[in-house]
Amino acid sequence: MAGSSRAPVGVLALQGDFREHLAVLGRLGADAVAVRRPEEIEAVSGLVIPGGESSVMDKLARTFGVADVVRRRIAEGLPVYGTCAGMIMLADTVLDGIRGQQSFGGLDVAVRRNAFGAQTESFEADLEVPELGDPPVHAVFIRAPVVAELGPRARALAALPDGTVVAVEQGALLGTSFHPEMTDELRFHRYFLDKVAVSSAGSSRP
Ligand code: GLN
Repeated sequence: MAGSSRAPVGVLALQGDFREHLAVLGRLGADAVAVRRPEEIEAVSGLVIPGGESSVMDKLARTFGVADVVRRRIAEGLPVYGTCAGMIMLADTVLDGIRGQQSFGGLDVAVRRNAFGAQTESFEADLEVPELGDPPVHAVFIRAPVVAELGPRARALAALPDGTVVAVEQGALLGTSFHPEMTDELRFHRYFLDKVAVSSAGSSRP
């Protein structure tokens, strides 16, 4: 059937916790591959951008010549899921970046890096995510960014009790401030794979 010949889902493996994402996608039965080179990124049906350090990921992406390919594929509608640093890479605007820091963009949001400061380097919280239903998502935040401004094209999926937005979607794009790949939480990746399936079905239509 069509499923067996579908292009794999890529996990951007320049830097960060890409192995954890590959493991989660594998548990969900997806054909997931680590990608680093432009031609590898051309061939995927969806892309996960892992957590790590966005300023380093940005430099590596430009050095290895993948930034422009990722940007173009996002503009063409490629489903992309970014966690933490990956969400920073997806944001149209990055606040508190290092000098000259760039993102791929695509998500109509302004994201603030390291938004919880040195006092609260990491913490965990249970989040209601109506789109995913019960139970709440146990979210792990590590030097996490937040969505400081939500543009009209983006939609909040989850917020902290004080209203700070920490998960967003916009069409085929998905971003979370936290790391579902580090816990037993599979629902965000499944939600993302649903976007990949919809996108792949659309593009193979005659
Ligand atoms: N603080 C990191 C950055 O700016 C993100 C941290 C993470 O991905 N866990 O990229």
